[in-house]
Amino acid sequence: MYCIISKGENLTDKKFYSLPDLPYAYNALEPFISEIQLKLHHDKHHAAYVNGANAILERLDKARQTGTDVDMKATLKELSFNVGGHTLHRLFWNNLAPAANKQPGGALADAIKNEFGSFDRLKKEFSQAATSVEGSGWAALAFCGQTYRPIIMQIEKHNVNVGPQERILMVLDVWEHAYYLDYKNERAKFVEAFWNIVNWDEVNKRLETIIK
Ligand code: MN
Repeated sequence: MYCIISKGENLTDKKFYSLPDLPYAYNALEPFISEIQLKLHHDKHHAAYVNGANAILERLDKARQTGTDVDMKATLKELSFNVGGHTLHRLFWNNLAPAANKQPGGALADAIKNEFGSFDRLKKEFSQAATSVEGSGWAALAFCGQTYRPIIMQIEKHNVNVGPQERILMVLDVWEHAYYLDYKNERAKFVEAFWNIVNWDEVNKRLETIIK
C-alpha cells in the first residue's frame, strides 16, 4: 500500500499510476474465473481506477499551476477511492494463479496456525468476511506490524475499514463486477472458487518480506 522510491530512481520518473498487465493469460484462471469476466474486470474496471486516480492528480497539478482551489474534501475522497481501487486490484491479480498450490507454506503456514489454529479456520473466517461485505468491497488478509498477528479485514468500497498500518497479504474482490458474469448473484460460489486459485507462494512472500 506504499509508494517507495528505489535507489537510482528519480523523483520525477513516476508521476502517474499505470495499469499493469496480468501476470497470466486472460483464460488462465478458468474454470474459476472465465476469460470474458477477467478481461472485462482488468481492462475496464481496473483501468477505470487508474484513469480516475491520474485525472485527480492532473486536476491537482493544474490547480497548483494556476493558483486555483479544488473542492478539497471531494477531491481527496475521490483520490482515496481510486488509488485504493488500483492498489487492491494490483494485489489481487498477483495473489491469484492458475493451478495454484492448495495450501499455504513457509512462514505463512506457521502464522496461520498460530493465529487461527488451522488453515480451515482461516478459510471459514475469510469466506464469512467475503460473503458478508455490505454492498461492494473486499476481504483482505493483512498483517499487523504492532502485534505481528495476521488479521482479516473487510474493506468496504476500496478504502473504508482499512487499518492504516496493516500490510495486505491477500485480497479477494467481491464487487459484483468481479463475478457477476460467471456466478450471477451467487457470491458465495465465487468465494468458494477463489480457494482454487490462490497464489500461496505470493502471499507467503509478502509476509516474509515484512517479517524478515
Ligand atoms: Mn474489481
